[in-house]
Amino acid sequence: MTGTERHDEVAERLAAVRARVAEACEQSGRDPAEITLTVVTKFFPASDVRLLAELGVTDVGENRHQEALEKVTSCAGVPVRWHYIGGLQSNKAAAVAAYAQVVESVDRAKLVAPLARGAREADRPQPLDCLVQVSLDPPGERASRSGVDPKDLGALTDLVAGAEGLRLAGLMAVAPLGEDPDTAFARLARIHDDVRARHPAATWLSAGMSGDLEQAIAHGATHVRVGRAVLGPRPPIK
Ligand SMILES: *Cc1c(COP(=O)(O)O)cnc(C)c1O
Repeated sequence: MTGTERHDEVAERLAAVRARVAEACEQSGRDPAEITLTVVTKFFPASDVRLLAELGVTDVGENRHQEALEKVTSCAGVPVRWHYIGGLQSNKAAAVAAYAQVVESVDRAKLVAPLARGAREADRPQPLDCLVQVSLDPPGERASRSGVDPKDLGALTDLVAGAEGLRLAGLMAVAPLGEDPDTAFARLARIHDDVRARHPAATWLSAGMSGDLEQAIAHGATHVRVGRAVLGPRPPIK
């Protein structure tokens, strides 16, 4: 595919996703300006990140440290915010904190100290925005997707909020397989209300992907993470 063909394909898909976001906002009486579209670029080349920036995308998401680091390095000067959305090993957390503007997958206490250290050592102008990833799996079935058990969420959000170099920006979640996303995101909205009662600045709610962004927006998502609907089917893992 030529660069022009890729440009046109992505531009068309992006317009369709933006129209879906606008329609979902219309349905729930929300302002589309409240929603940040984070395009998930995992497995796609750095050239797609540049293309997305040209098309007005401000936020991109990556889920593997090595791949993210290569892309961030190759995209120096491209005006996008990098969201780290993948499973995070504690020995990589400080390195991720050095290049990501947002870490969405804080799912255990062990990550907090290395993230905070990485953020402070990177001499960031602002604290690193962190989202605590919460599991929406029904009790008893947890761990099929990552995320902290809701019963441990209070302790983890307090820890992030109290860490120098980090800012507790809100929550992230993935709808569990096999449950209606509408039901899962309704539960998430209540969990988010509880967190905000304690941490009023934790206003971000990252939920919704290619298949369920409408349901997420209906339940208050401020950030949607969309990969395939914008970029097409993912290339196989290298
Ligand atoms: C891959 C991924 C997405 C994007 O999924 P699509 O179905 O391609 O939209 C969103 N969130 C997380 C955590 C992901 O790993």
